[in-house]
Amino acid sequence: MDYEAFLKERKIKVTQGRVIILEIIDNYSQAISADNIYEQCKEKGHNVDLSTVYRSLDLFERKDIIEKFNLGDGKYNYKIKDHKHKHVIECSLCHKEVEIDCPMLPVEELIKNKTGFVLIEHELKVKAVCQECMKHSKENKKK
Ligand SMILES: [Zn+2]
Ligand SMILES: [Zn+2]
Repeated sequence: MDYEAFLKERKIKVTQGRVIILEIIDNYSQAISADNIYEQCKEKGHNVDLSTVYRSLDLFERKDIIEKFNLGDGKYNYKIKDHKHKHVIECSLCHKEVEIDCPMLPVEELIKNKTGFVLIEHELKVKAVCQECMKHSKENKKK
């Protein structure tokens, strides 16, 4: 992946620190903590301080590049957002469908952190009613 182009595409000023941090997050197979990113920067011989790591993570999060997972106890992990993985929710009444981003990612991180188990597959089973159908059913009740 060309990280410089990736940042430019998202109208983010390219700095060496940001490119390195992005590369570390992307190459790490799991979600990664800020401390771990900082350690890897040092190992690779890059002069990036911890506050730069945090500032870059904030920026990436605001720009929707990475996702922040709350692991509890004031701990957070970060992962590049996977925009490909979506789920479809269907209205039980009119069968209209909407696509949503996978809501399971934070759950996966929690499970991994608590049990060490890695989720390899999941199915999302929900029953939903769309806004319009909801409105209709409320109006019908009033009558
Ligand atoms: Zn509906
Ligand atoms: Zn999913």
